[in-house]
Amino acid sequence: MEKMNLQTVTVIGAGTMGNGIAHVFALAGFDVNLIDIKQEFLDRGLATIKKNLDRQVAKQTIAQKDADSALKKISPSLNLETAQDSQLVVEAASEDAALKRELFAKLDQICPAETILASNTSSISITEIAAATKRADKVVGMHFFNPVPVMTLVEVIRGLELPTKRLIQSWH
Ligand code: NAD
Repeated sequence: MEKMNLQTVTVIGAGTMGNGIAHVFALAGFDVNLIDIKQEFLDRGLATIKKNLDRQVAKQTIAQKDADSALKKISPSLNLETAQDSQLVVEAASEDAALKRELFAKLDQICPAETILASNTSSISITEIAAATKRADKVVGMHFFNPVPVMTLVEVIRGLELPTKRLIQSWH
């Protein structure tokens, strides 16, 4: 196994889960691209991150300078192409299988071959999502829990390595 040099993480979706995931990666020192489809969703996500960081400072869980530097590490974007510089993408967009398949097919084109593509889905098959890409062995579930900055737990789910289409063909 090659060790990955993780520096930049892209989070897709700035909603309940996405802003929490961006928060914890930035606080851990990674550069984070936070992508959504409307500026107002990005603004709302960033406002929530700031509010939650402030709460951590007030509770003395983190220092003010760490909160400030975490916020600076998050770059909001409306453009999926921003994901091209990341070693890990965590998709936390709305729970819709067709949307996730479309996103993963695009990310597969945009991101370098070694980038790991993860989904925070609660119920959609990772194998199905992975089948939208040509890198099924680099697609995983990364299931964070709500509220992400508080819940120090993440489930990592592997899909079957074979794309679903080839798997189904092999059954016939
Ligand atoms: P949410 O509705 O709060 O946020 C989803 C965000 O995705 C929205 O801001 C939306 O604008 C954005 N989005 C939609 N299409 C997009 C696209 N094409 N590109 C970029 N952004 C897009 O949803 P949520 O509760 O944060 O859930 C996100 C994912 O996390 C889902 O897959 C859900 O099943 C999973 N999840 C949710 C929870 C929870 O408690 N809410 C817990 C674990 C996992």
